[in-house]
Amino acid sequence: MRKILAILFFAACALADEPRQPYAPDRRPDEGEGPFKRLIIRGATVIDGTGAPPIGPMDIVIEGNRITEVRNVGFPKVPINAERRPKDATKEIDGSKMYVLPGLVDMHGHIGGTEQGTTAEYVFKLWLAHGITTVRDPGSGNGLDWTIHERDRSARNEIVAPRIVPYAFTGKSMWDGGSINTPEQARKFAQWAAKNGAAGLKIIGGVTDPIYDPDVLAALLDEAKKLKLGTTTHLAQMGVARMNILQAARLGMGGMEHWYGLPEALFADRTLQDYPADYNYLDEQHRFGEAGRLWKQAALPGSAKWNAVMDELLALHFNIDPTFTIYEASRDLSRAMRAEWHDKYTLPSLWKWYEPSRAAHGSYWFDWTTRDEIEWKNNYRLWMAFINEYKNRGGHVTTGSDSGYIYKLYGFDYIRELELLQEAGFHPLEVIRAATFHGAEELHKASGKRPEYGLVRAGMLADLVLVEENPLKNLKVLYGTGAIRVNDESGKVERAGGVKYTIKDGIVYDAKKLLADVEKIVAAAKSATSQPAPDTAR
Ligand SMILES: [Zn+2]
Repeated sequence: MRKILAILFFAACALADEPRQPYAPDRRPDEGEGPFKRLIIRGATVIDGTGAPPIGPMDIVIEGNRITEVRNVGFPKVPINAERRPKDATKEIDGSKMYVLPGLVDMHGHIGGTEQGTTAEYVFKLWLAHGITTVRDPGSGNGLDWTIHERDRSARNEIVAPRIVPYAFTGKSMWDGGSINTPEQARKFAQWAAKNGAAGLKIIGGVTDPIYDPDVLAALLDEAKKLKLGTTTHLAQMGVARMNILQAARLGMGGMEHWYGLPEALFADRTLQDYPADYNYLDEQHRFGEAGRLWKQAALPGSAKWNAVMDELLALHFNIDPTFTIYEASRDLSRAMRAEWHDKYTLPSLWKWYEPSRAAHGSYWFDWTTRDEIEWKNNYRLWMAFINEYKNRGGHVTTGSDSGYIYKLYGFDYIRELELLQEAGFHPLEVIRAATFHGAEELHKASGKRPEYGLVRAGMLADLVLVEENPLKNLKVLYGTGAIRVNDESGKVERAGGVKYTIKDGIVYDAKKLLADVEKIVAAAKSATSQPAPDTAR
């Protein structure tokens, strides 16, 4: 998110000149097991990703990187007749105390970089440790060629990483073809992105690339469609006066990130946000503070305008990827800043990146007040009402985290996104469907291909999450730090859950081992730096 904005706003800082983060190290033989000739997960309870309820005991057969059979082998609390089970396993996992879900899809996963001081290994392992087996990089901020390189290595399982779906930022920083300021330039850019391997475009405009000029955007979306590129947008305030989300959707935009442009589409008694006279978009407290006062300026839930906008977005099959989590510090700074995982898993450089700074994106705590947090809490209520109703009326909502900014950590804060969907009104099964099948469907929408992951079903690629707790009862069990629970027998405080195994492409990763690797990376960085560590800062 930051990189592209930085380039657009501060032309002196060109992406091409920045040092890029190194590629992830090669996967060592002791990292992950498999794929296996015939892996059988025995007696598990399956949540298949379609929204169907849990079912078990099930035996799941995986041959190589593909699920070949999901067989019911009995009834709960009744001994299983061995005769009825699939045989000839070359490897078995006892799933009798486990829930098995499809691998999770993070639709908004920047891979960090030099600004955060993160490495690809650190980011990838945090994702996999939380069951994330597919990530859409919404912009490829390390360069499209960099992201494609890692996508291909991940596809060959040469690195420990989720599947990577690279989208390219629109902007002159991405290519050497110059500013995207005419319909012709827009078409050329889409062709360049497709030719260079992007799966889609993340359409974001600053002040120098007039991407929200209706003619330019129409050409870009038309060309993207012809090339079968997916499209999504962060409809920034600098463009929204000319183009709100509904207008963009009418031109063929496939979906949206965050929420910008949506309240503006819902304006009934104004055409512009009520900007104070001293507002400056590059003062990020202005930007985020005033954004927290935006939803209340839009048409109310249930009003004619609210319904008309929702009806039209639904008819256009428009995808919404709300990324509730990334704005959470706006409504509760202390919660985001003091999240318990920072101590062990947040790099000191990342912590530094989060700290208030007038020159860093998403570090807008110059004078954040109680009132600002209250405004944001109210903002969330209206936003969540829209998202929940959109889902109830058949719209697709997906799960993205945008971690690496605003005190949000890779992996951990993706799980937080799942919790926030539940807060918005989603049943946990609806949350899991959004996080799996609907994400996979959205990533395949533009190409017209059928998803090969996102469901626990024969024929699908073996991307799975195994957890020894019931995530429907408590989504917190998916956090690497687990859920806190008092053991009634011992009276002791325990940690329940944390993903046990993440299976990606038939390879079984011990999720706790991945987290231990991250812990070591962080400990080493702390001892090598004089920067204050997260647990001692402030
Ligand atoms: Zn982003």
